Amino acid sequence: MALIVQKFGGTSVGSVKRIAQVADKIKKFQDAGNHLVVVLSAMSGETNRLLNLAKAISGDEQPLPRELDVILSTGEQVTIALLAIALNKRSVPAVSYTGSQVSILTDSAYTKARILRIDDRKIRTDLQAGRVVVVAGFQGMDEQGNITTLGRGGSDTTGVALAAALKADECQIYTDVDGVYTTDPRVVSAAQRMDKITFEEMLEMASLGSKVLQIRAVEFAGKYSVPLRVLHSFKEGPGTLITIDEEESMEQPIISGIAFNRDEAKLTIRGVPDTPGVAFKILGPISGANIEVDMIVQNVSHDNTTDFTFTIHRNEYDAAELILQNTASKISAREVIGDIKIAKVSIVGVGMRSHAGVASRMFEVLAKEGINIQMISTSEIKVSVVIEEKYLELAVRTLHTAFKQDAPVQQCE
Ligand code: ASP
Ligand code: MG
Repeated sequence: MALIVQKFGGTSVGSVKRIAQVADKIKKFQDAGNHLVVVLSAMSGETNRLLNLAKAISGDEQPLPRELDVILSTGEQVTIALLAIALNKRSVPAVSYTGSQVSILTDSAYTKARILRIDDRKIRTDLQAGRVVVVAGFQGMDEQGNITTLGRGGSDTTGVALAAALKADECQIYTDVDGVYTTDPRVVSAAQRMDKITFEEMLEMASLGSKVLQIRAVEFAGKYSVPLRVLHSFKEGPGTLITIDEEESMEQPIISGIAFNRDEAKLTIRGVPDTPGVAFKILGPISGANIEVDMIVQNVSHDNTTDFTFTIHRNEYDAAELILQNTASKISAREVIGDIKIAKVSIVGVGMRSHAGVASRMFEVLAKEGINIQMISTSEIKVSVVIEEKYLELAVRTLHTAFKQDAPVQQCE
């Protein structure tokens, strides 16, 4: 008998009708003889609505984080009770619990708490008694009994954490897409659902803007080796399995996916006196302001001065530029220039480890289209380039076509 943790997202429980559909689906799994723990999000839009209520009443001030968590956690409390009612109505014994009731213990970092421990006794007793256990996602309780929430999208993490604690056979994330795609199907119509992807690749894809899963949930699943599957809530299909194993098969493509990100901006400080400690002088104040830096490039120096370029989130461009202007005058750099019309495109695949020349193939494909590369960064399983934003879609499309054609052909034995 399999133990499965199933998580349904906000759109899947967005109305009474949808919740009834979810109940029908769960009944089928239960009838097939599985033990089921179901984790739910709030109805789509509900968490934002609650957040706006809190903001409306606090005016200019930030709402108290503790109270924000008290209010935000109510969205999930509604959906779990509705689902438990719907299941019992279908003669499926089911019981709902909030995060604190099943004892999902977290630290006290309100609005972004981390799970410390899960006491699974209550859940195990219910499962033994043949009940479906419905748990509110996105929330927990700290040592003092305060309600906490896990950060936006945190129900994925609840699902994975429960699957890890219960040693479930699989954690299934039901959502409004039928899996993880080779790239965004809205940009490349030929994008394909992947049957499998490794945790490492998924992390690269997720952090690059393929927003199917909360990144923390993927990290958690990788750390505790929880088999994770992304599936469509209401369409049949195998979805995408996220696993640890890297298959050595000859069919394995070199590139699994192409990710991209339009949210970046670029800043360059020119004519920097090239002395030890200069990188720290430039980036120290930026990180001091909690601005995250992504790519960094320093040029070879010329006449004892150098240029230094880095990318940041577009939202933080103004703040970062101000800091950099300040630094420039302190260290007598020549000027600061910036560009917000850039985009990052990355090719991702564990297959790169065993194939040389993947990066140069990427550059060749972009060159043929006349697309200029402004910055490059590489890791073991990823090559990223920064290009002008207007070429983003062209770049993604041509790279997708090129790497699909390059897929190694299966060898006959
Ligand atoms: N309801 C929460 C949110 O909207 C948590 C989740 O859906 O995963 O962020
Ligand atoms: Mg979500």
